[in-house]
Amino acid sequence: MRIVFRGVRGSLPTPYSENLEYGGNTACVEVRSSSGDILALDGGTGLKDMGVSLIEEFGRKGFDVEVLLSHYHWDHIQGIPFFDPLFSSGNSIRFFGPGPKLEKVLAGQMGAPYFPIDFYQTGSRKEFIPVESAPFTIGTLSVHPFGLNHPQGATGYRLESEEGTVTYATDLEHGDEQFDRILREYAQNSDVLIYDAQYTPEEYERRRGWGHSTWLEATLVAGDADVGQLVLFHHDPSHSDSDCDEIAKQAGRHFPETIVAHEGLIIEL
Ligand SMILES: [Zn+2]
Ligand SMILES: [Zn+2]
Repeated sequence: MRIVFRGVRGSLPTPYSENLEYGGNTACVEVRSSSGDILALDGGTGLKDMGVSLIEEFGRKGFDVEVLLSHYHWDHIQGIPFFDPLFSSGNSIRFFGPGPKLEKVLAGQMGAPYFPIDFYQTGSRKEFIPVESAPFTIGTLSVHPFGLNHPQGATGYRLESEEGTVTYATDLEHGDEQFDRILREYAQNSDVLIYDAQYTPEEYERRRGWGHSTWLEATLVAGDADVGQLVLFHHDPSHSDSDCDEIAKQAGRHFPETIVAHEGLIIEL
């Protein structure tokens, strides 16, 4: 399995020189399975670059992409209208996401007056699969969705394959006993845990109820769930590269196998 971080920022893109080492694109993680399945975890602005690289790799011959959405806040869907493979008739794209309004939400963000091209005029074949709590399979991957504590709700995904297990958990706020327990259950023994670490513990005190967590909580979850590698993700837009370096240092003292995600980071399992 190959994991490529295409967008690691939370909330909104930050194309500023002081944070470009970690990157300014919003949430998108590409996952490739050993059997050649192509997945995007979320469709933030990082999805644009993933599309460009897929076209480079496959040219215009058709391919299939599975887009798994955690929820529909802008920073998780805004790259979809700019995802080149959406426009080619040979491609087939399956969208997975929570709730029955999945298709309506995606079509709506490209409806007038928000976007010049209607969603249904893009050439790819599309399928919409509402995600509930039941596990499902994509090629050789088994996918286990679970609920996260976030305003209007969000879904995490545990991906299991023969090569290893990756758990994607963004956006979420810790502190709810039931959600905290579910998260630890689903993250248990993951080789890689990708976790919403938007705030420092100090910042979090002023942002309670906003639906995000901290690097400190990330290290506690990683320890409790016995994960191999913790990846801090969904960085606050105000965090500069030096802030992220500092977070890496501090989090590493609590859980040594911690990486602060940056655009272009690749993890192979
Ligand atoms: Zn977000
Ligand atoms: Zn959100």
